[in-house]
Amino acid sequence: MKLPDKLYINGKWIGSTDGKAFSVTNPANMQVIGHLPVTSAQETLQAIEAAENALPQWSAALGKERSKIIRKLFELLIRDKEEFSKIIVAENGKALSEARNEVEYSSLFIEWFAEEAKRIYGDLVPSIKKGQRLFTIKQPVGVVAAITPWNFPLAMIVRKLAPALAAGCTMVIKPSEETPYSALKLAALCEEAGVPSGVVNVVCGDARIIGEAMTSSPKVRMLTFTGSTRVGKTLMAQCAGTVKKVTMELGGNAPFIVFDDANLQKAIDGLIASKVRNGGQSCICANRIFVHSKIIGAFSKELISAYKKLKIGDGLNENNNIGPMINPASARKIYDLIEDAKANKAEILYSADVTEQKKLSECYVAPAILLNHKVNSKIEQTEIFGPIISMFTFDTEEEVIARANASNYGLASYFYTQDKDRIWRVSEALEYGMVATNDVAISSEVACFGGVKESGLGREGGKTGILEYLEDKYIVMS
Ligand code: ADP
Repeated sequence: MKLPDKLYINGKWIGSTDGKAFSVTNPANMQVIGHLPVTSAQETLQAIEAAENALPQWSAALGKERSKIIRKLFELLIRDKEEFSKIIVAENGKALSEARNEVEYSSLFIEWFAEEAKRIYGDLVPSIKKGQRLFTIKQPVGVVAAITPWNFPLAMIVRKLAPALAAGCTMVIKPSEETPYSALKLAALCEEAGVPSGVVNVVCGDARIIGEAMTSSPKVRMLTFTGSTRVGKTLMAQCAGTVKKVTMELGGNAPFIVFDDANLQKAIDGLIASKVRNGGQSCICANRIFVHSKIIGAFSKELISAYKKLKIGDGLNENNNIGPMINPASARKIYDLIEDAKANKAEILYSADVTEQKKLSECYVAPAILLNHKVNSKIEQTEIFGPIISMFTFDTEEEVIARANASNYGLASYFYTQDKDRIWRVSEALEYGMVATNDVAISSEVACFGGVKESGLGREGGKTGILEYLEDKYIVMS
């Protein structure tokens, strides 16, 4: 696998101009897989300028013309699916099957927004005055800066890039320094697909310096961010100075509720799928598992026997379901949460043995199942971001809704029941941007993904996804 050693600015592959570089590590074995130049503030501004210069032509192209290029990008991504999946595994550590899912999921967003590029409609508004005609048209926001995380190094970029390009915006993307290669491979495919120079730029290096350059530049009209709530708040404050449009996909603390009338097998399958996905490192991962006290015994027994079957290790080995966490600090944070839960009387119902894996890398975490007996513990209020199932029991619907809503986050939520009236009641009562009943497959290109409260602003995907990258312009004709 050949990894690039340059960044992509204004249609050119740029090496280091001042000799500064950073390294990227494979968390499965802690080996350095490559080095990339550090983008300076000055170079970030150059990338922004390139995006600004490319804007008039790209935004004036017919939707149909942009659509063709984006469609080509979809085809190239499918062509390179296997190579792309291996890049994702090398920099992120996830299981190869998960990486393949990520490439496929990303390609569907590109295909979807290639189609949406042709369907950007305005409105004809009924007038209140004779001889006057009122219209609205939709126009691209302008230069968009995107800052993305490491957990889905391709998908989190594509969910922004595909609608932004479809809308006629140009972009400067800063991927996570832990996983920059997916972004660069995507930039290479954009180039091959015929995306003009300057329309897509990729910078990377020092997040704070690049973030400040992006947020303070008046040329950047929108910042789209996926990452932690803490950094999201900082970036929102930084954007205030130039009143940028912002969209934010931030943290979550998803409740996963199993009522006593649930199909237990379905609930167990769903919970495991949620935890296996990227080793639990996703913002929509089931985090607080509320199980009705009547069924906790049967549920735990089946869950443990299913969890025992998981295989942990290097994602490149196709037998493994769960890879390492992204870095040693993330693994330590998870172990600290478990220690705190234990100090708060949590029972460890199961913990896998990862002694062998830890000889290769400190990033491995043993998948475990905990039963908590206290509420408001650290593990209840924190996004675990790992393969730890942390359970609580409850007795009534009212109680569990109140506990599920007692969080500053409001991204995804899940519940299992066979009672159709309860499905309506609980779906409406949960204060979350997304609710899944009897399922965990919540995210796809056709639906709007996003959160309320401190989980974010704006939606990605679906028919609303492209609207984030467009402004309404109102025109009166007398
Ligand atoms: P995570 O916990 O998922 O790593 P972060 O919010 O730390 O979430 O990181 C998400 C993205 O935000 C990454 O690309 C990271 O480099 C970037 N980032 C972190 N701190 C800052 C900052 N102060 N300014 C701009 N970007 C930042």
